[in-house]
Amino acid sequence: MELLIKNGAVYDPFNGIAGDKTDISIKDGKIVDKVSSSASVIDAGGRLVMSGGVDAHSHIAGAKVNVGRIMRPEDTRSGIKPRTKITRPYTGYTVPNVYAMGYRYAQMGYTTVFEAAQAIMKARHTHEELEEIPIIDKGALTLFGSNWPTMDYVREKNMDKLAAYVAWGLLASRGFGIKCVNPGGGEMWGFGKNVTGLDDVVPNFDVTPAQIIVSLMKANEMLGLPHSVHLHCNNLGKPGNYKTTLASMELAKQVKPSKDRQVLHVTHITFNCWGGTNWGDFESKADEIANYLNNSENVTTDMGQLIFGSATTMTADGPVQYANAKLLHAKWANGDVELEDASGVVPIFYARQVSIHAIMWAMGLELALLTKDPYKVLLTTDHPNGGPFVNYPEVIALLMSNKKRQEEIKTLHEAVHKRTKIPGIERELDFNDIAIMTRAGSAKVLGLLDTKGHLGVGADADISIYDIKPDQIDPSVEHAKIKSAFQSAAYTIKGGEVVVKDGQITATPMGRTFWVDATVPEEQTEIMMKDIRMKFKNYYSISLANYMVQDAYVTHPKVVKAGVIPVEVS
Ligand SMILES: [Zn+2]
Repeated sequence: MELLIKNGAVYDPFNGIAGDKTDISIKDGKIVDKVSSSASVIDAGGRLVMSGGVDAHSHIAGAKVNVGRIMRPEDTRSGIKPRTKITRPYTGYTVPNVYAMGYRYAQMGYTTVFEAAQAIMKARHTHEELEEIPIIDKGALTLFGSNWPTMDYVREKNMDKLAAYVAWGLLASRGFGIKCVNPGGGEMWGFGKNVTGLDDVVPNFDVTPAQIIVSLMKANEMLGLPHSVHLHCNNLGKPGNYKTTLASMELAKQVKPSKDRQVLHVTHITFNCWGGTNWGDFESKADEIANYLNNSENVTTDMGQLIFGSATTMTADGPVQYANAKLLHAKWANGDVELEDASGVVPIFYARQVSIHAIMWAMGLELALLTKDPYKVLLTTDHPNGGPFVNYPEVIALLMSNKKRQEEIKTLHEAVHKRTKIPGIERELDFNDIAIMTRAGSAKVLGLLDTKGHLGVGADADISIYDIKPDQIDPSVEHAKIKSAFQSAAYTIKGGEVVVKDGQITATPMGRTFWVDATVPEEQTEIMMKDIRMKFKNYYSISLANYMVQDAYVTHPKVVKAGVIPVEVS
């Protein structure tokens, strides 16, 4: 299996290549120095070549995605494509079926996607769905922020037990990293309440959100996990929440990273850079967040860009979803995951003439355009919260063209002029910036740069070729061409195999599921497990034997080793 991609205009920021005509050699699914003369050849003909896209935050599998499908039968009527010889049927837009998830990502040139939230108790379901998503590599982040054992160990200041619990929780859920959603708030939602700031005390546990975040960051670094803590901040969905977001970012200063990456990833900033005190004086403070990022290390973010039209909000933040449902008079599903967290699902429609939606549209773009280093802001829509992932090409076009932004602004509620900075921002990102925000940066944030997000020797042969000749196009003017090229890759190559040609799926290999096996001293696990067995006996509705994700659920695993005792990455 040898393949040579010739004459590509390659953008590979991690290796310092910005549009140079470079050949890429592939053998046995990996990028190599050179191939033999019998290799198959793809002539890119001067077209844009990047590594396969990497999405660090999307909701593609698990209980809440399925609740979204149940709540929105109308969604299945859009985007229908019947079965072909190669593909199974596609359905849905905001909550597409599992097959469409894999096909549509691959058609955009994406090859790796991480599900951003799974409760350990629901992880079997997550993996059952991940197993059905074709083509892409994937993984899932595990919720620890409103979890009883976490809060017990934070209160006891017992970092050894907390690290052992996180390691065990990742094993139990076959998870990739620590997700923390409205820490403490999910627990309080069980009593119809919420936390209102980083220093509120969670009743019955006597811990604060700030203590939970800092302790989880410390446990994360003790274990040397590839990714950092991935935080959905407290007070999300409330005007004025940018202060909580900045204060949460400030907590990262208390912890030293164990690796060359951030210690805290603060996700979907569109939902937590809100100024004002109520819906009347609601305004964007994305500039304040960007300013903070420009003057700090160890914190990264992603956009969570809003897309006008239908979306389905789904999150472990139970209380915010109750507030959303009340505000919007919308359908509402609420979930409580026993000792672990809460959740909620609410469909939404983002309208151009609704002032709040117009301001939110500006927020993600402001963040990306005002933050100088694109490694600090990943391109996401928090699919399907800000909008479905199929709209990434729209976001790319907006970031690359001020002309397109100004055309859009003309169609929006006038609040976008007074309550955001977007009309006056002239910066236009280039292909290098886009390659960082969708590839190198996401892989770095996830801790996967050894094999993902770049085109150096040893990387996975995940490559996208787009029908754009960078030296012949002005993205600022020809933004429609940019959008359509990124919607429909000329080629997507996954693990050395052509899976998309001219926007059509040509093969559907099974991707792998990344999870982290973190080791701690055995006696540490044993001491911690005494507590866990007690919790199962007294509180859980299921037995421990029915809880763990077994190997049978993850048939194509990619195990990343970590742990208190440092172990080589396998
Ligand atoms: Zn999310």
